[in-house]
Amino acid sequence: MKSTAARRRAGSTAGDAAIVMEHVSKAYTVGVPALNDVSLHINKGEFVFIVGDSGSGKSTMIKLLLRELLPTSGKIIVNGTDVVRLKRRKIPKFRRSLGVVFQDFRLLKDRNVYENVAFAQRIIQMPGREIRRNVPSILSTVGLAGKYKARPKQLSGGEQQRVALARALVNKPQILLADEPTGNLDPKNSWEIMNLLEKVNNDGTTVLVVTHNREIVNAMQKRVITMKKGIIVSDEEKGGYIDED
Ligand code: ADP
Ligand code: MG
Repeated sequence: MKSTAARRRAGSTAGDAAIVMEHVSKAYTVGVPALNDVSLHINKGEFVFIVGDSGSGKSTMIKLLLRELLPTSGKIIVNGTDVVRLKRRKIPKFRRSLGVVFQDFRLLKDRNVYENVAFAQRIIQMPGREIRRNVPSILSTVGLAGKYKARPKQLSGGEQQRVALARALVNKPQILLADEPTGNLDPKNSWEIMNLLEKVNNDGTTVLVVTHNREIVNAMQKRVITMKKGIIVSDEEKGGYIDED
């Protein structure tokens, strides 16, 4: 049975694709698939939630898209790049087209907000004058222009996640991957992060968000892909959080 989302995309051309997975399986242990024959097509500019129980394979999917892991079998195309065949030396350049945010922020604790974001630009050898323009600009987008000198431990969880988001966005990625970005946040801060992700998406970035936040998923009316035991069990346009039985 095809979902409405799958039917709608069936007619789309490859050029519209941000992410394609075809028959992807990943077994960390032989015979125990964490992902089991997953096929998925996400167009450029889409906003997609990935939901599902703990252990259903969501983070594995994100790691495969980042080329942190290789699949056991199957094909993965991200931004037109065949990530399975990608040469090791080409991985850094490939990753520049992706922004990533995690549940635990992963900021540099001994650097201030400005430096945490500037660091991402230094890695890609952005000229200093560009950094001095881009960092304040993205910090104001996430509402942290006034806190650029603060260290991570002086910030709330919500503020730390906004720094992480600014760092993920400063190099203008085509795709933003967020693995439970609101997992450590209270409802108000969770909404602020999700609203920012929606804004980023409205500006053209493809956004993929793994989350357990059923209230937000139900309210935002985006495409929702539900995973269970390594399989996509539903994929709905303007979907909701499917209750476990
Ligand atoms: P989710 O993010 O949905 O909670 P994961 O993708 O982290 O799920 O995990 C999917 C399955 O793969 C789980 O059964 C988990 O125990 C297993 N798994 C994840 N990472 C590893 C690993 N590095 N080594 C072995 N098994 C793993
Ligand atoms: Mg996970």
